[in-house]
Amino acid sequence: MATQHSSAPVVCSDVTRRYDGSTGRFGTSGTTVTALDNVSCEITHGSVVGVAGPSGSGKSTLLHLLAGLDTPTAGDIQIYGTSIQTLSSRERTAFRRSHIGMVFQRFHLLPALTAVENVALPLVQAGDSRRKRRDRATELLDAVGLDGRHKHRPGSLSGGEQQRVAIARALAADPAVVIADEPTGELDRETGKQVLDVLTDIATDRAVVIASHDEYTLSRTDRVIKLRDGRRET
Ligand code: ADP
Repeated sequence: MATQHSSAPVVCSDVTRRYDGSTGRFGTSGTTVTALDNVSCEITHGSVVGVAGPSGSGKSTLLHLLAGLDTPTAGDIQIYGTSIQTLSSRERTAFRRSHIGMVFQRFHLLPALTAVENVALPLVQAGDSRRKRRDRATELLDAVGLDGRHKHRPGSLSGGEQQRVAIARALAADPAVVIADEPTGELDRETGKQVLDVLTDIATDRAVVIASHDEYTLSRTDRVIKLRDGRRET
């Protein structure tokens, strides 16, 4: 399904992320919050790494940093050899589009578009031809077990099917890293299991990071990075 990527890992070295309370989404407290405190981790090619920890422990902050959506206050994040904090905001966006796929708890599909159109959407930005986009989206939907559902809109798909469309969309640009934030949070155990089957399957040729509270989901990963109060416990 995917082309061969380099075997270099994702490396996160002594990463700290502080938020200035006066500008954060949590109001104007004026205090500084250290969301991540000197965290180091390596995410190796061909593996699924879990990120665990109680609410407020820094999981989303770490995921946003690994996804290049945010930059650290201190430390270094290298994704397949590129230090993402050295890129300009525009370069980071371009890097993210071609190297990182995101999967969210609530799927974030566009309701007016069919499954195949949702999956093909990132390829419009990549400038691919209409035919190439459709062929790639079709191939990806088949690969996640959704043959026969290509023309369905999200509203007529089950939660598990919607999440598989979202995974296919995350894979559209054949990214080296897929980052999933609570991907089974809205799904029952059986459906969650099918989604995890797909996520573990796609990790054979990339790095997959899954943040979750769920014990079963974490048990399906190869290794768990456990956070508490912004620090690594394990
Ligand atoms: P988790 O995903 O584990 O629930 P987060 O990474 O969302 O944890 O948050 C870690 C800490 O950083 C929390 O104390 C949270 O309140 C704080 N935080 C997260 N984002 C911001 C922000 N934009 N501004 C201010 N504080 C933030």
